[in-house]
Formats: sequence, C-alpha cells, structure tokens
Amino acid sequence: MKKTVMPQDQVFWYLNRPESGCLRTSLQADVVIIGGGMAGLTAAQAFAEKNKRVILLEAFYCGSGATGKSSGFITPNSEISFAEFVRRYGSVGGTAIWQAIEGGVEYIRANIKRYGIDCDYAPEDTLIVASSPQGVKELHKEDDQLKKLVGKSGFIEKDQLQSYLHSSAFFGGVIYENTFSITAYKYCQAMKEILIKKGVTIFEETPVLDFKNHVVRTLHGTVKAQHIIVCTDRFTPNLGVLRESVYQVQTFLMMSQPLVENEIKKIFPDRRYMVWDTEMIYNYFRLVGNRLALGGGSLLHVYDGKEKHCSSRVYGKLSGYFKKKFPLLDLQFEQFWPGLIGVSKDVAPITGFDKDDPSVYYVITATGLPISAALGMYAADRLIDKRDDLKDYFSPYRKWAVPGWATRILGKKVAFALSNFLSVGGHF
Ligand SMILES: Cc1cc2nc3c(=O)[nH]c(=O)nc-3n(C[C@H](O)[C@H](O)[C@H](O)COP(=O)(O)OP(=O)(O)OC[C@H]3O[C@@H](n4cnc5c(N)ncnc54)[C@H](O)[C@@H]3O)c2cc1C
Repeated sequence: MKKTVMPQDQVFWYLNRPESGCLRTSLQADVVIIGGGMAGLTAAQAFAEKNKRVILLEAFYCGSGATGKSSGFITPNSEISFAEFVRRYGSVGGTAIWQAIEGGVEYIRANIKRYGIDCDYAPEDTLIVASSPQGVKELHKEDDQLKKLVGKSGFIEKDQLQSYLHSSAFFGGVIYENTFSITAYKYCQAMKEILIKKGVTIFEETPVLDFKNHVVRTLHGTVKAQHIIVCTDRFTPNLGVLRESVYQVQTFLMMSQPLVENEIKKIFPDRRYMVWDTEMIYNYFRLVGNRLALGGGSLLHVYDGKEKHCSSRVYGKLSGYFKKKFPLLDLQFEQFWPGLIGVSKDVAPITGFDKDDPSVYYVITATGLPISAALGMYAADRLIDKRDDLKDYFSPYRKWAVPGWATRILGKKVAFALSNFLSVGGHF
C-alpha cells in the first residue's frame, strides 16, 4: 500500500529566510548527516576535517532542536553522573566515557576560540548542590570517584557553600572547574556558516523522510552516500527506526528581567557559577549577562508527548523554587519556554550501526551538549579511523529494563518513566 507523505509541519512564510536552502535535487556525497544540532554539526565538522564530502540535512534550521533551546552549560556532568557511569561500565569504561565527554567540552571551546565565535562564551565553574542530606551522600560518591579516577574534584561543606551562593538552603556541593557557558543557538548558527566555508553542503528546511541502501530521501530530493549519520535525537522514531528505544523528557527554561549588581550579589556573592541541584526533578540556573536563566522540570510533565507551553503550574514551581532558595530576591521573568530532549530507556546515549543496514550510524539521546559533541566526533573516528573504545557501551540494541513488548502494552510514556526510574532513579 502506498504510504501517505504528509507536507512539512512548517509555516510557508518562514521559508523565505535567505539562508535556508532546501534540497530540490539528487546529490551524492561520502557522508550524509541528518540533523543540525550539536551532534550533527560536530559530526559534519569531524568528517569534513577527515577530507570527506559531507552533506547535512536539517528539517528546520540548525539549532532548532534541543540544542538551540538549551541553557548552554558546557560541563561534563549531565543526566548521568561520573559515579553512575563507573557503576554501570566499571572504572575503565566510566573513565573512558568521562574523558570522551571532557573532550567534547574542549572541542566546543576550541571551535569558539579558533573561529572567534560570538556565542556569549563565559568561563564559569559548575557547582552541583545538594538540596537534601540524601543529595549530600550522592555528591560524596561523585566526589570520591572523581578524585580517585580522574584526579580532580572539590567537595564544599554546607558552612562554606554560602561564600559561593547567597543561600542557606543547600546542604553541600561539588565543584567542576574549567567549564563554561554559551548560547548554544548562536553557536549552531555560527558553526553552520563555518562548515559551509569548509566545504560542507547544508540544506535547511529539508526534512528527511527515510533512508535505505545508502540513499536518504527528502520531500523534494535524495542524497546517496557511503555513510548515513542519524543525529535526529528525539525525532528518530519519525524516521521509522528505533521506535521503542527513543522517547523524550521535558525541561523548562525561564529568563529573568535584567538584574542590578546588588541583586546579582544576593545570588553569587563572589563569582558566577553554573548551578545544578540534585533533586529528583532537578533545577538549574546561571547568569546570562545580567539576567538569570532558571531551568527545571515538573514531575507531571517530564514524559509529556509534546511540548507544554505557558504552564502556570510549572512557572509557579520554578519561581517558587528560586524564592525558597533566595528569599531576599523578587525576580520577574520575561521569557519561558519548554524543551524536549531525546532519551533512551536507560538515559545513556544510543550510538552505533543499524543492525540491518551498516551504512547507517546513530548518534542520538546523548542528553547533553558536550556528550553530543563527543559522540559526533567519535562517529567520524569510528567510521574512518576505526576507533572503537566506546563501542561496547551505547549499542542501539542493548537490553533495557523495560523491553519492547512491555512498551507496546504500557505505552511509551509509562514504559520510559519506569525504565528511566529503574536505571537512574528518574533523575531529571
Ligand atoms: C531547555 C533545555 C535546556 C538544556 N540545557 C542543557 C545544558 O545547559 N547543557 C547541556 O549539556 N545540555 C542541555 N540540554 C540538553 C541538550 O540540549 C541536548 O541533549 C542536545 O542539544 C542534543 O543535541 P542533538 O544534536 O542530539 O539534538 P537536537 O539539538 O535536538 O538536534 C536534532 C536535529 O535534528 C533535526 N531533525 C529531526 N528530524 C529530522 C529529519 N527527519 N530530517 C532532518 N532533520 C531532522 C531537528 O530539527 C534538530 O535540529 C538542554 C535541553 C533543553 C531542551
């Protein structure tokens, strides 16, 4: 039976942006990358630097997915802590993964410096804080592993923490040095231009419909390539693959009105940090210039099937959180947006070859900007230079706590909530 091909979910008028060239012909390349977020752009750069002819296809515009909506903390710590990687993959595996992620941090930094990218680069240490005594225990575990295996970390006791944050509501913290923040949307837009100058061909407004036998089919054209690199994160099931292994989690971000110096000092008495807490549905904040970006999730909406806009409940939860931690401040927020992040059933990335088509390689569900970059680079190293040190950890076909048959019965929302909870205690 003939499959119905729907028109693109897009406002026609947006297509007139001069930079968005849509693919309308049949082309050939060595490598075709699907998706223009952090994973896809990094993979495109890495293959191009290995002298491969690269075409990148993006459904909307580069950075339009999770990357461009993110809060731009560039730190090796993401949904999975170092201690959790070590618990899962042993000290050798956990350390190799952590070092790869640190490589992602440095790769992004090197691009910013080398190309002078204007993306609000701000060197800032990362501070992970505990909102409960239980959180302190987790932080001690993380600190111990980092000290033992990577040789760097610093635990901050409750009484010292107030010189970092003007709040008595936290129980302790761990600090990661040499990290930084960026506006990831600006980074993507700049990288797009840099890649085009390097010879990468980029088509935006070009949703891929499917791929088979080295050929990627879009609404109005095709690309034939030796390698197809799928960097479509949460959208991957729309391509008809890995349907039961990829879903999404939702987080929210708000931007405050500009703050005066005195108000900033009521949050950060000395220096600025990128801050995360360790609550199950965690919150995070940092300064963007003189505004506060405050993010976090809501148990009710973590596993929503689509973005939840303008939720007064979530707005109340996030602003209430901040008020509780910093009662001296009365912040007004000017923007508020949701974002969906691709996630696997055990919250770890999915990267590796398709089992039926070895020309297809996935780099998805990395849940973090540096790890997305790290795995984008790794894709080129793996396919061209045969590097394989991470191959045993993130197979698309590994066993999940909740298998495919149970997903079909429970539905994706329940199956992923359960599977994520069994894997990392549902920490989002
Ligand atoms: C609000 C928010 C805050 C966050 N904060 C941070 C943070 O501070 N630090 C951090 O490390 N991480 C953060 N994250 C997570 C991080 O943004 C993501 O894990 C990361 O950006 C994923 O990158 P990606 O390239 O895999 O996916 P995406 O950026 O989603 O890119 C996938 C791209 O594929 C395109 N695509 C999809 N389907 C098709 C198709 N059929 N054809 C062509 N193109 C297609 C999409 O349009 C999209 O541009 C945050 C996420 C959100 C939502």
